[in-house]
Amino acid sequence: MALRLFNTMSARTEEFRPIRENQVRMYACGPTVYDYGHIGNFRTFVAVDLLRRFLRQSGYAVQYVMNITDVDDKIIRNSARDGVTVRQYTAKYEKAFLEDSALINIEQPYLVRATEHIPEMGDFVKKLAEKGIAYRTEDGSYYFRIAKFPQYGKLSKKDFEGMQDGARVEVDEYDKDSARDFALWKAPKPGEASWETSIGAGRPGWHLECSVMSMAELGETFDLHAGGEDLIFPHHENEIAQSESLTGKTFANFWFHARFLLVEGEKMSKSLGNFFTLRDLVLKGHKPSSLRYLLTSVPYRNQLNFTFDGLKQAAVSVDRLRNFRLRLTSSNFQAGSNPEIQKLAVEAEHRMRAALEDDLNTAQAQAAIFEMVRQANAAFDTGGVKKDDVPALLEVLKKFDDIFAVLDDDDVPKMKRVLDWALTEGRDKDISEELRQALQSGQLSDTEIEAKITQMGSARKARDFKTSDALRAELTEAGVIVEITKDGIRWRRK
Ligand code: AMP
Ligand code: ZN
Repeated sequence: MALRLFNTMSARTEEFRPIRENQVRMYACGPTVYDYGHIGNFRTFVAVDLLRRFLRQSGYAVQYVMNITDVDDKIIRNSARDGVTVRQYTAKYEKAFLEDSALINIEQPYLVRATEHIPEMGDFVKKLAEKGIAYRTEDGSYYFRIAKFPQYGKLSKKDFEGMQDGARVEVDEYDKDSARDFALWKAPKPGEASWETSIGAGRPGWHLECSVMSMAELGETFDLHAGGEDLIFPHHENEIAQSESLTGKTFANFWFHARFLLVEGEKMSKSLGNFFTLRDLVLKGHKPSSLRYLLTSVPYRNQLNFTFDGLKQAAVSVDRLRNFRLRLTSSNFQAGSNPEIQKLAVEAEHRMRAALEDDLNTAQAQAAIFEMVRQANAAFDTGGVKKDDVPALLEVLKKFDDIFAVLDDDDVPKMKRVLDWALTEGRDKDISEELRQALQSGQLSDTEIEAKITQMGSARKARDFKTSDALRAELTEAGVIVEITKDGIRWRRK
């Protein structure tokens, strides 16, 4: 089997084949750094992270580039409002984006910033103008003449028949049903940031930024271009128009779009009070690993309905996986191996892989791992798991976690960092009792607890009950309930 992905361009699920045999070159539209990212943004970024990880697991070298949009209408407006430079304004939110990505274990892509590629953007527009595809308006702005690109609409499948040649739109984001000549380059306005380039002073339009940076890093044609579904039109349609009319070549072979996240069934919006950043949720006491798990639990092409019940459920799922791994690493097993368990591991891995190859069906992949955990736990209780079965089960967990990244327990230090941030931002009132409690009872990480449990086991074996009791008392003090059973020592947090 090979990976099959839905391609928005062909509107079909196709076998994914990169241009170069063992290498994938992909680009995702990154954040516009004018505010903290919300959970919807991170749904999309996590989906692309998961794709990247699965491609790597499938044997590809992945070159993954993401842009940081650090000039656009909103940024210019807000930085002028606050009386700071664009760079000063965006630095804070770029840092927050990187911290938030790390919070939910998104591996950092190769980042490119719009402000670092402005001269190339000017040159790009110049070439389009020389070809008669871009035109200059009186104030020194440049527009893309869409009538010169007859395939306009091929990605969004919109039929723009009867569109008005020469009707223009200046803003970066606009009405979904109109096709207009869009701004490539915006003339300077008093009080706004601008740059000197080969076509004069001004600043780039948002669409142009992505075309220039993606081709600069990945070449004129690359394998895959990703973003949230709202970017299909106008953003990606415009990127294609600019890039392909300049090079005469296909811009990206695959177009990967994540569907939107809703909150409790509704579109997220500040006015509805259902708008959350990752930090908001951590301040309410939720673990970063629960957030990541929830964001990956719905296949990227399905709408994800974020609910607090779902988030609690995700926490339970992560705990089950972590406890299972702990059982494997801290129990005593009889020598030998059980062919049934060996088969269980092989089948689980196979099902997981098949699910992900099927257009990244993450829900099925998670179901496969839980079925393995359920059956292996049942076998544990009857002594059916033998010493030589443990590496096979651990290997499947590792394959799962290379993609889903929730097994290592670093929630407590991460939550602590969010709490510290809230204090420095003067958001003390947003720190919930749940978060404070989670930090108190979680002063020992799972790994630390695990180490103490192992020490307890060794002490008991050596009949050193004094040490064992002391360790147990220490754990109880830290809010950990320890049970000594015939199969070994188990623990859970209070
Ligand atoms: P922005 O910072 O607004 O440029 O958006 C960054 C990314 O988040 C883009 O790929 C958007 O398509 C995506 N995005 C925005 N809102 C949502 C949402 N509610 N659900 C999923 N993705 C979203
Ligand atoms: Zn883009």
